[in-house]
Amino acid sequence: MNKARKQTKPRILITGGAGFLGSHLCDRYLQEGYEVICMDNLSTGSADNIAHLIGNEDFSFIKHDVTNYIHVGGEVDLILHFASPASPIDYLEMPIQTLKVGSLGTHKALGLAKAKGARFLLASTSEVYGDPLVHPQAEDYWGNVNPIGDRGVYDEAKRFAEAMTMGYHRYHGVDTRIVRIFNTYGSRMRLNDGRALPTFMRQALNGNPLTVYGDGSQTRSFMYVDDLVEGIWCLSHSDYIEPINIGNPEEVTILEFAKEIIELTESDSEIVFEELPKDDPQVRQPDISRAKKVLDWEPIIDRKQGLQKILEYFLEKVKRVGHTNIS
Ligand code: NAD
Ligand code: UDP
Repeated sequence: MNKARKQTKPRILITGGAGFLGSHLCDRYLQEGYEVICMDNLSTGSADNIAHLIGNEDFSFIKHDVTNYIHVGGEVDLILHFASPASPIDYLEMPIQTLKVGSLGTHKALGLAKAKGARFLLASTSEVYGDPLVHPQAEDYWGNVNPIGDRGVYDEAKRFAEAMTMGYHRYHGVDTRIVRIFNTYGSRMRLNDGRALPTFMRQALNGNPLTVYGDGSQTRSFMYVDDLVEGIWCLSHSDYIEPINIGNPEEVTILEFAKEIIELTESDSEIVFEELPKDDPQVRQPDISRAKKVLDWEPIIDRKQGLQKILEYFLEKVKRVGHTNIS
């Protein structure tokens, strides 16, 4: 971190700051006394996610595509690089943009970190493990990714971003961190972003059938957003350079998860089975031993509590858009 400005607030740049996770990070770092610069091209994010921060003198928004040269005046202490489409339907609709933001965007953000002497934290993903042959996934597993499959545009972009981050660390001495984020949910998710949780919530609350892909035996492990934000906060203040998994190890099959959402919403919806997307990972569960040891971090909100917490958000959201399938 830049120690030159002892008297002023630390200054952070959050790329993708108007997205689901980025906006929660803007909130947290502002609460912790940072000056926050949010940079986003609003491709999958929304100005609504940061509307409550406009007018805060410690907050500024720059609309910019980070695959182009990034200019930020003044000093920067920390960069959280979160810009990237993240839901499968987004990156399938925007394959080239996804590859560009993971490669060119990461390059630009690292270049800025080097120029400013800022610490740099990359938002990587459990998708770097692909359809894993090792279960649960620890950080020393190198993964099983189909580079030319539909999901390859996201997985390989993030793998390249990790390699670029380590390159800048080793060659230029940039102070870097890498977080591998596992499936996270919370408020500000879009109803139509295609991920399992908002889709099931939308379907259940509208009384429509829940679309489970395949036979629903594939597993995921869902983490509540506040736990993720706390993990990022800890990592951004640690000295640890190697990648760290941040996720909730509470694993569930997608079929069981759909049933939990029907129960939570007290819905009469049925479950229908649809074709499993290509290369859809069969299992996913983080091994978080490293995060526990290095960061003294572990999730504290279990799935039952987390789902209860976000029910109101989805009820409100569905009410606002009416009984439709879009948001
Ligand atoms: P999101 O789509 O809500 O947010 C991504 C943000 O990045 C959006 O606001 C979008 O407009 C912005 N963006 C995309 N391309 C950009 C570009 N070229 N220039 C500037 N801004 C750009 O998704 P999210 O769920 O908040 O994910 C944020 C980050 O976390 C992503 O890097 C994603 O890969 C990572 N991640 C998320 C999850 C999860 O479960 N949500 C899991 C693993 C990793
Ligand atoms: N899924 C599903 N029905 C849906 C949306 C998703 O069965 O309407 C499945 C999807 O095939 C995957 C799991 O739910 O097996 C989690 O999907 P999501 O897109 O949330 O995350 P990811 O696959 O990136 O982990």
